[in-house]
Amino acid sequence: MSTLATQAELTLNDWKERAANATFKTQAFIDGEYRQALSGQTFDCINPATGQCLTRVASCQSEDVDAAVASARQAFESGEWSRRAPTERKKILLKFAQLVREHREELALLETLDMGKPISDSLNVDIPLSADCIAWFGETVDKSYDEIAPTGSDALALIPREPMGVVAAVIPWNFPLLMAAWKIGPALATGNSLILKPAEQSPLTALRIAELAMEAGLPKGVLNVVPGFGETAGQALGMHMDVDCVAFTGSAEVGKLFLQYSGKSNMKRVSLECGGKSPHIVLADCHDIDQAAQAAASGIYYNQGEVCNAGSRLLVQESIKDELVERVMHWGKKLMPGDPLDPSTQMGAMVDKTQMERVLGYIDIGKSEGAHLRMGGNRVLGESGGYFIEPTLFDQVNNDMKIAQEEIFGPVVAIIEYETFDEMMNIVNGTRYGLSAAIYTKDINESFKFMRDVETGLAYVNTSCIGAEVGQNFGGIKDTSPISSREAGSQMFDAVTYVKNMVVDFSGKLQKAQIE
Ligand code: NAD
Repeated sequence: MSTLATQAELTLNDWKERAANATFKTQAFIDGEYRQALSGQTFDCINPATGQCLTRVASCQSEDVDAAVASARQAFESGEWSRRAPTERKKILLKFAQLVREHREELALLETLDMGKPISDSLNVDIPLSADCIAWFGETVDKSYDEIAPTGSDALALIPREPMGVVAAVIPWNFPLLMAAWKIGPALATGNSLILKPAEQSPLTALRIAELAMEAGLPKGVLNVVPGFGETAGQALGMHMDVDCVAFTGSAEVGKLFLQYSGKSNMKRVSLECGGKSPHIVLADCHDIDQAAQAAASGIYYNQGEVCNAGSRLLVQESIKDELVERVMHWGKKLMPGDPLDPSTQMGAMVDKTQMERVLGYIDIGKSEGAHLRMGGNRVLGESGGYFIEPTLFDQVNNDMKIAQEEIFGPVVAIIEYETFDEMMNIVNGTRYGLSAAIYTKDINESFKFMRDVETGLAYVNTSCIGAEVGQNFGGIKDTSPISSREAGSQMFDAVTYVKNMVVDFSGKLQKAQIE
């Protein structure tokens, strides 16, 4: 397969042909090699666009996790990676990122078949951003300096960062490779060994890139991949006595379990990146209602609404509400779902039947709560066997309704009307989550007041709340990120390293207690 052809050269038929001939890595990757699960168990990997089984993947249990942890520990203790100079780690991470780029089309196809997202997104967003993220952390690690504590001239106190050791990453399915890259980059750049557990809905790209990492020169045992279910492989990592740190991204409910696993095992460090219920807010004085509407539509319907910082609430002032809603529906209707392998498709399939039913369940709840369904609300393309839902819009939503409070994680937006700035801020902050928020206004004072008072980790003015650039430190507060560093930026080093205070006493005078 050529890796140099561009998206424009590949048609739906080309992608279909490639899909028909695709091969998959289906075994766990432990200690530098692919292995069956020790139990021999496997699970179905379903294409959400057809409902058909693509392949069967190793279902790792606690004994497989034990083997991966032992390999990761051995690799860490050997120092072959953990003690290597940052410039050397950088070279290998840059080579790894380059290999991801070179396999962009292959990886994009895997991502689309496995997860249901449009091929143009996999190709132009997910895979390039994943490579950029790994490269960014590689590039950063040999330019990061540690600190020196202030002391008198009798002593020198150094404050280096040390790798945590064996890090486990447990990740969701909405951006399978990108979420993996957000963990792989910082963990490996700082010298840790990593065990990655992809979501059971979307393990294929994580399994494939494990061998690309080896090809780039990563020593065996430094990156292990254990596909499997949360209650088995995920829990085994959370409870493991020899895992030093878990970096988790997923739902708040499972995030809480990881806190419990830590307390019940070795008090391992846990970093959490969980859900969101992010608002777009359009003020009557915004620059351009149509531009705000377009941003709001793509901010909720992009990636089928399966985005942690999706703009799932849209707050608007009464005087412009009708016009804004009309424009959002105009843009939303252009995003009707289609075959994810078609390069012109902008919205694909929900990741699985469970997620589709969950979203349809919320649409029923919205109707029964008295919200006004103005657009969508249905499963479509059912004849394909896939799990497609049309862009959906509820008007007349009250912030107390379940569809305004709970994370739907699908293409459903709730329109909430308000009058005053203070009322708007109360609605914006009236949620358990605190990930992202975006305001559209010309008023510089109101935009700064908004950014100061909003209870989120990400705040935007005149641009969509789903921005996520590498280097910008992504994360939230409240139930979104109760204990976390920030992802995809230098603050993620805080999650995967610890700070050591090292003191040399030149004079012997620092010792306070003397034995008589
Ligand atoms: P999830 O919590 O169901 O699963 C996430 C991971 O945890 C998966 O690998 C899963 O196998 C594992 N898991 C599930 N149950 C487990 C258990 N009992 N013990 C141990 N591990 C378990 O989430 P999801 O449905 O895969 O992803 C959607 C969620 O992820 C949404 O809430 C979304 O907002 C969130 N998310 C957050 C961010 C962020 O950066 N804040 C980014 C992407 C997704």
